[in-house]
Amino acid sequence: MHTYGPTTDELATSVLRYALDRVQETPPPLDGPRPATELDAEAGTTITAGGLGGTEAMRVWTDILARACISQDHPRALSFVPSAPTEASVLFDLVVASSAIYAGSWLEGAGAIWAENQALRWVADLAGLPGDAGGCFVQGGSAGNLSALVAARHAARARRVADGRPAPARWQVATSAEAHSSIAAAANVMDVEVIDVPTDEVGRMTGAALDATLDTADADGVFAVVGTAGTTNAGTVDDLVGAAEACERHGLWLHVDGAYGGAAMAAPSARARFDGVERADSIVVDPHKWLFAPFDAAALVYRDPARARDAHAQRAAYLDVLHEPHAHNAWNASDYAYHLSRRARGLPFWFSLAVYGTDAYRDAVEATLATARAGAELVRASAHTELLLEPELSVVLFRRTGWDAADYRRWSDRMLAEQIALTVPTTWRGEPAMRFCIVNPTTTAADLELILDTMAGPA
Ligand SMILES: *Cc1c(COP(=O)(O)O)cnc(C)c1O
Repeated sequence: MHTYGPTTDELATSVLRYALDRVQETPPPLDGPRPATELDAEAGTTITAGGLGGTEAMRVWTDILARACISQDHPRALSFVPSAPTEASVLFDLVVASSAIYAGSWLEGAGAIWAENQALRWVADLAGLPGDAGGCFVQGGSAGNLSALVAARHAARARRVADGRPAPARWQVATSAEAHSSIAAAANVMDVEVIDVPTDEVGRMTGAALDATLDTADADGVFAVVGTAGTTNAGTVDDLVGAAEACERHGLWLHVDGAYGGAAMAAPSARARFDGVERADSIVVDPHKWLFAPFDAAALVYRDPARARDAHAQRAAYLDVLHEPHAHNAWNASDYAYHLSRRARGLPFWFSLAVYGTDAYRDAVEATLATARAGAELVRASAHTELLLEPELSVVLFRRTGWDAADYRRWSDRMLAEQIALTVPTTWRGEPAMRFCIVNPTTTAADLELILDTMAGPA
């Protein structure tokens, strides 16, 4: 089990062959979920005293289980936020997996952390954050948002103490209703209140609305503002200049959640929408969403990393060695988020950036933006659909005239059953709607047209 031999060799061949075939499959099969009872019946008991052996375990995976998982990199997987990892990033994930790297501390993972930090630097440069900004890769935007907000409250608490002010009755985070659900989830974990900043007609949080909210007596406990740079539902970017100004006036931490949309900072045609992000105290961008890395990797960057360290560094007898002044302690990635042991999950992203160069990333993001604009034109041109919002990023939000929620569901189920697309409905302003989220450079306008055509008839 821990010694390489002929059996291992056979297994290696079949596993690596599988991985290589999967990378080369363009497009991969869409696939989809199946009831657990069917999987029980077909796959049977897989954990046994004697083991199934490599051949049989691979057969169960290949023939049964893999087919019950949607390929998020299919060009017509357009729901939630899909993923379209590059070949280099996927292949390098195999290297990460085989290397037994602990990437929490510099002592143990210096080379990996050094490379991850270069990738974080590229993200920080896109945002225009200062040269000493830094952070780490975490599992996802949810983990990044939580860690940033914990650091923000830690800093606010320390400042209140220093100022001789009492703690507020309730700590609060100000954000809009269009912010991602993970902000409410983080607030729940932290036992803090979310106060709602009203949005304008396209769902954007403006500086004026934020200012007005912060000026009310009920906002005394606010320690952070979350601006969304690309709402998940509509791809709208909040007024970050206005948010930064309001935060400066009120002495608050600005966290910019770019988990989905932050990637578009790499695209010249969209960059101006992010103006103001350079004033953020922390940002999150998910490479596993729109920067072509495999699950799971979110870039979390702080303007002043020391403040994150104060909040997150874990202390214990067995960890003291990591915190002593020493050349080996250059950057302990575990100090910048709520985690300790960590996979070098930023490495596939780093490797891909190193292989292809940042121009290729710029072009790939631009390609998805162009596809979204073309999709919006198709929706506008088609008699049975109505565009709900001009896309700012790569979400196309529209309505099929005359359909209710049940119609969307029936049609969406049919799209998956017929292996045409993953296109689940959403709502906009309380009404059922359809949403394409395009992060895959291989998705074409023809793919969108094919799907739109299926909406012409009854659901
Ligand atoms: C997806 C998303 C998140 C959550 O990210 P995960 O990687 O799924 O945890 C947070 N914020 C926004 C805006 C998102 O789109």
